[in-house]
Amino acid sequence: MPTETFEFQVEARQLLQLMIHSVYSNKDVFLRELVSNASDALDKLRLEKLWDDSLDADLSDPHIEIDIDKDARTLTVRDNGIGMSYDEVGQLIGTIANSGTAQFLQELREAKDKAGEDGLIGQFGVGFYSGFMVADEVTLLTRRAGESQGTRWSSRGEGTYTLEKVDDAPQGTSVTLHLKPADPENQLHDYTSPWKIREIIKRYSDFITWPIRMVPEKSGDDAGTPEPETLNSMKALWARPRDEVSDDEYHELYKHIGHDWRDPLETIRLQAEGTFEYQALLFLPAHAPHDLFTRDFKRGVQLYVKRVFIMDDCEALLPPYLRFVKGVVDAADLSLNVSREILQQDRHIEMMRRRLTKKVLSTVKEMMTKDQERYGTFWREFGTVLKEGLVTDAENRDAILAVASFASTHHDTEPTTLKQYVERMKDGQEDIYYLTGESRQSIENSPHMEAFRERGIEVLLLTDPVDEVWADAVGEYEGKKLRSVAKGQIDLDAKDEDGSDDDREKQTQEYAGLLGWMKERLDEDIKDVRLSSRLTVSPACVVSDAHDLTPALENMYRAMGQEVPRAKRILELNPDHQLVKGLNQAYKEREDRTELAETAELLYSLAVLAEGGQPKEPARFVKLMADRLERAL
Ligand code: ADP
Repeated sequence: MPTETFEFQVEARQLLQLMIHSVYSNKDVFLRELVSNASDALDKLRLEKLWDDSLDADLSDPHIEIDIDKDARTLTVRDNGIGMSYDEVGQLIGTIANSGTAQFLQELREAKDKAGEDGLIGQFGVGFYSGFMVADEVTLLTRRAGESQGTRWSSRGEGTYTLEKVDDAPQGTSVTLHLKPADPENQLHDYTSPWKIREIIKRYSDFITWPIRMVPEKSGDDAGTPEPETLNSMKALWARPRDEVSDDEYHELYKHIGHDWRDPLETIRLQAEGTFEYQALLFLPAHAPHDLFTRDFKRGVQLYVKRVFIMDDCEALLPPYLRFVKGVVDAADLSLNVSREILQQDRHIEMMRRRLTKKVLSTVKEMMTKDQERYGTFWREFGTVLKEGLVTDAENRDAILAVASFASTHHDTEPTTLKQYVERMKDGQEDIYYLTGESRQSIENSPHMEAFRERGIEVLLLTDPVDEVWADAVGEYEGKKLRSVAKGQIDLDAKDEDGSDDDREKQTQEYAGLLGWMKERLDEDIKDVRLSSRLTVSPACVVSDAHDLTPALENMYRAMGQEVPRAKRILELNPDHQLVKGLNQAYKEREDRTELAETAELLYSLAVLAEGGQPKEPARFVKLMADRLERAL
């Protein structure tokens, strides 16, 4: 059978280079990765056989085996699991499917120090490739269960790999590492030492549910084949008494199921007894994965039934806004061949989802009171996702609001909770104010903020796209209305007793003619022109009606392919601004208002620009503006 040579995909080659030059300081973990893959392969075989009884596969003794050959300096990890077809080997091993790879590599190049590199590489499970940290050549022999022909893959990690069809491959996969030359300085990292292998497996892979066996090397004078020894206890962590399991053990399980190289931020255990018994072991990761917001992000926890693995990514067990949570749920009374469709409708599963959701939220709450820093990390990484729940999960809205925090004008860098905001509210302030926008800076400079800044009224600064949606949907917090400072009538002086209401009355009469005339002129774009109490320095701003969609939200709906009518907005003028005063004067005095009409149009465009929007006809705006500037010279 001919051997064909292929080139690694560019990203794959770059990752391999990183492995070979070993940016990761803890090399022991390569074994964890290979064992983890082998264990997954055994899980897959069991499931496939469950679905398709006619599959011609040997399931008599599923196990993982580790062989050491001291003389040849090779280490082999073998499983009799699902295996890979010829095409699969090329696809799975020769390329990197993860879309975050390019971004990851970029960040890695930019990382300045070793610590940064370690952190980054940890974010990115390099799985199989990690073998190249300790080996200068890797060969893989595999045969997919049910197929007759096997495949041999081999590479020195230098840009190419070879593929060859073989006739006599056993079912499953064996990965052989041709270890780099021994380092006499560093005996600790001798991967041909059974002692070392035993230690690594115990530390990283003890909970693996399939036996991991090692056959000791034959010593010269001893004839018969030595008995293989099983290296792992195979005990499910979630079924062991809590005080018997160390944090490290939990963390290793997390790394196995979460495909993460770093410790989780939080481990959550839950035991439910009674009519429907289950155990859950959930983890909050310390970092959001790159693809958290992509459509094909795999969400959900692993489902077991009485210690038997049933499915990965079981999305029925947690709501979409908790899609970053990893873990295991082991239920006592489910059928072994439940399908995803059945799960979606199962009443018990529904109960579990509600309980697990509440448990995750209460854990975050606890983190918030006990460990500010950890909570801060959590919210920074996952706050945006969690806020989706404010829109989709009415039942837990209050619990989510209780753990949410937001940037605010109160502090430059430290976010505030709604509770803290309410505690700081001024006498007479009845509502919670917020403004949405693209960035903190653009919001702070928005004209809508002027009166609030002058009066020292705190405003929440919301910059996530989802903020537009939830703030509208939620409406209030503990009886206090959530109000956008860019929507509806804002009259911060209404309660003053200094006669400002009378002044306002007078001003309105003063300007009535101009306001009516401008409304007519700008009718195509806006539905009203009125005097503003939001402004102190800007001449004008545009606001939305209290119940209309904001422009950002309109855009979001359009981006999602929904047709929404463009809501006309309201132009507000600052009656204390010289430009507005002058305009009113000219309006009253002049017969020919052609030029005034242009000024009105310019004023409107300026208001749109000030909130970060775009004038409707930029070219026309520029021309009018340039004419004016020229005349002012
Ligand atoms: P990951 O495990 O994170 O997906 P890897 O690079 O370790 O990434 O593996 C890529 C893919 O190759 C796996 O998802 C799996 O489909 C396949 N694979 C790796 N090792 C094995 C194995 N021992 N048996 C069967 N398939 C395997």
